[in-house]
Amino acid sequence: MLDNDKIKRVLVKFSGEALAGENGFGIENDILKYIANQIKELVINDIQVGIVIGGGNIIRGVSAAKGGLIKRTSGDHMGMLATVINAIAMQEALESSGLDVRVQSAIQMEAFCETYIMRRAQRHLEKGRVVIFAAGTGNPYFTTDTTAILRAVEIEAKLIIKATKVDGVYDKDPHKFEDAKFLNTLSYEEAMKDNIKVMDDTAIALAKDNKLPIVVCNMFHDGNLLRIIQGDMSKCSIVTN
Ligand code: UDP
Repeated sequence: MLDNDKIKRVLVKFSGEALAGENGFGIENDILKYIANQIKELVINDIQVGIVIGGGNIIRGVSAAKGGLIKRTSGDHMGMLATVINAIAMQEALESSGLDVRVQSAIQMEAFCETYIMRRAQRHLEKGRVVIFAAGTGNPYFTTDTTAILRAVEIEAKLIIKATKVDGVYDKDPHKFEDAKFLNTLSYEEAMKDNIKVMDDTAIALAKDNKLPIVVCNMFHDGNLLRIIQGDMSKCSIVTN
């Protein structure tokens, strides 16, 4: 089980859609501000925070390639760029809440942000700066969930939190099935099952190999991230061995 006293460094993953609000597209400033306040609470409590944000509120490679005109690889490049747009927006929100922030991109974009360098990222975190990891892994055919696990392992985070719009993981879709059961804890194998799919298989396999616990929680419950890191796991799902 988790030793919450030792959790000093975490990685929080937000999907791009989380930034979009009701309409599912673009970026809502009120949501950015809300997230910034949630992250600030962590930093004030001496927790070192890395962030990965998706790009689904702008474009996803698979959808871009659907019509056949745009190749999947180009679509994925567009998707990775979308994550940079979100990261820059998030940086502004975090900075205006008084935090020190660095965006590090997997693809060199020196006029916009730093390039990802693991040791430099670790140094920023040690100094209390929030680091936002942008442009995914830098490779097509991957997701930002896989990016989040990869970066979490690289920076030696003790926990990864997938901050979502739902309370956690159910054994089936709670919107469709009245008897859907909430799963407070589950194994990596269970997390990979088709009906559950906490993240894509690549992401979960990487977490399993590195014994990185994955927490799924509702980011819209005020204070949830801090409560979880401080040990209250009652209102979330946790994937461990
Ligand atoms: N992407 C990619 N390689 C990566 C991470 C992301 O090619 O390592 C692309 C991919 O096209 C993906 C898009 O970026 O669809 C946005 O990421 P994702 O779909 O994971 O965002 P989310 O669903 O979390 O908003």
